[in-house]
Amino acid sequence: MSERGKVFVITGPSGVGKGTLIKRLLAAVPELELSVSATTRGPRPGEEDGREYHFLTEQEFQRRVGEDDFLEFATYSGNRYGTLRSALDDRLRSGRSVVLEIEVQGASQVRQSMPEAIQIFIAPPDPAVLRERLVGRDTDSEEEIEKRLRRAEVELEAQVDFPHVVVNDDVQKAATELEQLVRSELSLH
Ligand code: ADP
Ligand code: 5GP
Repeated sequence: MSERGKVFVITGPSGVGKGTLIKRLLAAVPELELSVSATTRGPRPGEEDGREYHFLTEQEFQRRVGEDDFLEFATYSGNRYGTLRSALDDRLRSGRSVVLEIEVQGASQVRQSMPEAIQIFIAPPDPAVLRERLVGRDTDSEEEIEKRLRRAEVELEAQVDFPHVVVNDDVQKAATELEQLVRSELSLH
């Protein structure tokens, strides 16, 4: 039987570049798979149900909370987000490693329930870049960006709880650092 896979939790404030770095990481390390979360937020243009997220109604999300289907879940900027146990269990059992891209409250729940998970915080070189990057990404309204930036202030304080911090200044440099960290944890060369 193969050895159990590992869980990598990747977190950090909105706009810091988690999605960008994870996309590069998955391309560079084919041994890794991304966990598709559930959310009650609506899909952005181009997002597909089952690919970026499982898009659920509030009622369906709540029903699945009641069924204990989530490893962790949190409310972020007025919407609910959660990691489905079903996205992890079979994969880990069959030796595949999984990346969770989640916000910091969820990361803290995973720290409690799965202390062996490898927790990585992606930090901005300066908090001011978050606004620039969110505006540049052009996926959220001004009001939504303000909400995310307020939340980011609290999230940045949580950075001290993380054993691994990758600063996303130059994207290539940060992607290489993240890849090396993951390869080392997976004993890959
Ligand atoms: P997150 O997933 O953390 O919300 P994204 O990966 O969507 O963040 O990145 C937010 C925006 O910032 C995107 O438009 C992305 O292209 C850009 N970005 C990511 N990393 C960098 C970087 N190192 N320097 C400049 N812009 C970046
Ligand atoms: P977005 O709306 O930009 O896709 O995501 C908003 C925030 O929710 C991001 O910080 C993202 O990492 C986080 N998120 C995505 N999926 C999950 C999840 O399953 N659980 C938790 N706790 N946060 C999540």
